[in-house]
Amino acid sequence: MHYISTRGRSAAVDFEGALLAGLAPDGGLYMPNAWPQLSPADARALGEKPYAEAAASVLSLFTGDAIDQSTLLAMTKDAYGGFHADDVAPLVQVGDDDYILELFHGPTLAFKDFAMQILGRMFDAALARRDEHLTIIAATSGDTGAAAIDALKACSRVNVVVLHPEGRVSDVQRRMMTSVIAPNVRNIAIDGSFDDCQAIVKSLFADEKFVNDVKLGGVNSINWARLAAQTVYYFTAWAAIADGDEAVNFVVPTGNFGDVFAGYAAKRMGLPVATLGVAANANDILHRAISNGDYTPAGVRPTASPSMDIQVASNFERLLFEAKNRDHDALREIMENFARDKGMKIDDQTLAAIRKDFVSCAVSEAQTLAEIARHEKATGALIDPHTAVGRSAAIRLREDGHLKGKTVTLSTAHPAKFPDAVKEATGKNPDLPDFFSDLFDRPEEMVKATASEDAIKSIIRDAFGTA
Ligand SMILES: *Cc1c(COP(=O)(O)O)cnc(C)c1O
Repeated sequence: MHYISTRGRSAAVDFEGALLAGLAPDGGLYMPNAWPQLSPADARALGEKPYAEAAASVLSLFTGDAIDQSTLLAMTKDAYGGFHADDVAPLVQVGDDDYILELFHGPTLAFKDFAMQILGRMFDAALARRDEHLTIIAATSGDTGAAAIDALKACSRVNVVVLHPEGRVSDVQRRMMTSVIAPNVRNIAIDGSFDDCQAIVKSLFADEKFVNDVKLGGVNSINWARLAAQTVYYFTAWAAIADGDEAVNFVVPTGNFGDVFAGYAAKRMGLPVATLGVAANANDILHRAISNGDYTPAGVRPTASPSMDIQVASNFERLLFEAKNRDHDALREIMENFARDKGMKIDDQTLAAIRKDFVSCAVSEAQTLAEIARHEKATGALIDPHTAVGRSAAIRLREDGHLKGKTVTLSTAHPAKFPDAVKEATGKNPDLPDFFSDLFDRPEEMVKATASEDAIKSIIRDAFGTA
């Protein structure tokens, strides 16, 4: 197994190369050279195993020779052993054919933990073997940062710098990041949006000298290893509910198009997936793209589901690459045009290819709050606003005839991460789990910075630079 850049101008790398680099040097995203295959019987067998074992089985298809099987199993056992639910990713039935996949039982209460906990262990092992250090930089719309910090705070060979948009993450999200005070952790609050944070990270990676000076590495959802780890729960969820080879739908609250692309990857690997529903909030670029080919960023609108307040969805490039039948030159041209024109019209053939697998739905703020309230009335349970975007989309897509049969909506965050929205919708205050009961008493540490590449570079050089 090796990994190629979508843009076709970087050398192929092995799993470890893709893990440590994040973005390819030509600005493209790494993809497996071919999709590993699993039969429905293989997928069913995964469902019989404890989650950590299923994860090791699926990940081994991607890691190839880079990590031996027993080491990988030790890593997944360690990573998922820290989750606060026995079955790691519990599936809850909420209607005749409707299920919620709870992905928020990890140490920072959002699905990002699934990938980040395993990534931290992979980084440590790879860097120890190479006797190297790395400065990981991540832009976060709220959850990636906390998940990265928790996963990397104890890694002796990794520094971690997290950029979050000041005032645009929830207090709980911010405190989960800024209350981790460690010599290898820096939180930077950027005066700007998540897209500004993401743009700064991209520009830092484009500066080769800076990358070498501070040994820069990335864990944003462009990192293939994250998507590989996220394919696992599609397999286990399918195995839990499918009869025979029955195809199942998945609806995914989407921001950077990473999680739903992992579902697409599972489908390409042979999992019987019928349709993938892309649920967007008021930042509806992906809905406009999938419904009528208009992939043009508008201004970012802050919503109750801030982890999805994204316009330019980095991983969408991976889908365009597939929809273009892996034609590197065609892909490079459309991405270059996109950068120049600040938008694109997806051609009909490409759009038709995308629509074979995907449908989309945009959910307004009012609909999000209404769904939190409706869900609480119907089931007695509280859901977070991201999950509510997913469920609202799932209900509407079913009503409109786009989804038939069993449908799993991914529940991406714990309601207590977004208490304001939950309280506004239901009048109820979701409790943080016991292990976070003192979160609001913990001291915080962060620096503030303008949305400028130079400001961030100097902060990082001061903290972790060699020269
Ligand atoms: C990151 C995140 C999303 C969006 O996931 P993508 O992979 O960026 O599409 C949705 N919900 C929550 C709670 C998140 O943290």
